[in-house]
Amino acid sequence: PTYESAEDTIAAVVTGAQQSAVAIIRISGSAAVPIARKVFQQQSSQNGQIWNPQSHRVYFGHVVGDKDTILDEVLCLVMLSPKSYTCEDVVEFQCHGGPVCCQRVLNTCVRAGARLARPGEFTLRAFLNGRLDLSQAESVLQLVESRTAAAADSALAGLKGGIGDEIRSLRKICIDLVAELEARLDFEEDLPEVDKSRLASDVAALQHGIECTLKTAQHGRLLRQGLQVAIVGRPNVGKSSLLNAWTGTDRAIVTAIPGTTRDIVEAGVTVNGVPVTLLDTAGIWDGSNIVEQIGIERSSKTALAADIVLMVIDAAEGWMPGDAEVFHQLWGKPPSRTSSANVKGPAILVANKMDKAGDFSAASLPLVVKEQFGQIVTTCALESKGLDALEDAMMAVLGVEQVSSQGHGWAVNQRQCEALVRAHESLMKVSETINQDLPIDFWTIDLRGALVSLGEVTGDEVTEEILDAVFGNFCIGK
Ligand code: GDP
Ligand code: ZN
Repeated sequence: PTYESAEDTIAAVVTGAQQSAVAIIRISGSAAVPIARKVFQQQSSQNGQIWNPQSHRVYFGHVVGDKDTILDEVLCLVMLSPKSYTCEDVVEFQCHGGPVCCQRVLNTCVRAGARLARPGEFTLRAFLNGRLDLSQAESVLQLVESRTAAAADSALAGLKGGIGDEIRSLRKICIDLVAELEARLDFEEDLPEVDKSRLASDVAALQHGIECTLKTAQHGRLLRQGLQVAIVGRPNVGKSSLLNAWTGTDRAIVTAIPGTTRDIVEAGVTVNGVPVTLLDTAGIWDGSNIVEQIGIERSSKTALAADIVLMVIDAAEGWMPGDAEVFHQLWGKPPSRTSSANVKGPAILVANKMDKAGDFSAASLPLVVKEQFGQIVTTCALESKGLDALEDAMMAVLGVEQVSSQGHGWAVNQRQCEALVRAHESLMKVSETINQDLPIDFWTIDLRGALVSLGEVTGDEVTEEILDAVFGNFCIGK
């Protein structure tokens, strides 16, 4: 597709694919009103009178096909340029939601001169016409795909322009630096010598700004994908009780009989705005019967696939042989500990039943155990104590900063992240060049590189490949 020619008028069903009471067909482009004139008959219009719709008004009538056969009864909404989603003339038909109605209305629009819209093409036009920057266009997609309120809030912050504002302010610093250096190249004799230490500190500030922006990426990924957290441990240490305390529900079976939680029980909680699926695994121990063996396998698999593993022990009893069994199942046996099935992700040791353990201390744990766990947390599942510390520990092992969820709210996506990393690399080269005392024209090459990469985030610098990559992810009608 070529992005210069937005001359076609495009049309698509913009509501969901499932059957619904009402569906919306959107037409956008310079021929939107002429096409609507051909296919739409306003209820109260006089015969022979040309329909000249007003912007932002709703008309009632029928969409008609060949020989004025009625195809559906519709509401027609007209939004004239530039006050529309695409900044072009837009006409929308609200028709009945059945697939037949939608398809017939759409087909008659196409026969009247519209072209079927490609995925994301309405939003692409909004971008090309300057209504949204590229990061905002991506936020539209993120908003539609959000699974949690926190993810939607983050997308809305991006849609408001938060990412663009941040990147443009970094770009401004970069542009000023390039301008200053190029002035030296052109009028070297007339200007005082470059203040290298100030330039170096400007470059460092830019790098710092990029680093801060990059820190939102991890949180953004978590908001979009969520986290799978496996709770493992020998029977009776309080895994199910912990899950229940966390969710405040009774979804998991709590019992004092070892090995009751046969199947993996799932529960959803929100930690720091991140959707977390908690998986209470069946007790892992060297079981003698087949059911227990299946439990062990399933538990191990769950733990291997999880983003974080929480291993629960009984703080009152301390580190027991049963705990060592579980530990070796998941992290391999000493001395080699080279089992290929080892858990790779971060792990937290949860010492539960603190109410019964006056003097539990991590010092009593074997060294290999202490080394394996990024964090050790104490809890009392029965009194719902220690859960905040556990949540903090989870964010800590993932390297997520508390601020990123409460600060600006928006988060950069994978594509933006890659562009920012490239900008950062270019700036590293600039610092090296400054340190090596190379001539000024060397500096500007990499500064310009950084400028281009930053511009790719907002779409100020854009190629067709980037647009294809971004809008190819959209579905038709957006
Ligand atoms: P699981 O087999 O690891 O899932 O353990 P459960 O959650 O079924 O708990 C086993 C027993 O320990 C139950 O009787 C719980 O009431 C008890 N329990 C769980 N957490 C605590 C705690 O923090 N303190 C005390 N005192 N008892 C607990
Ligand atoms: Zn249990």
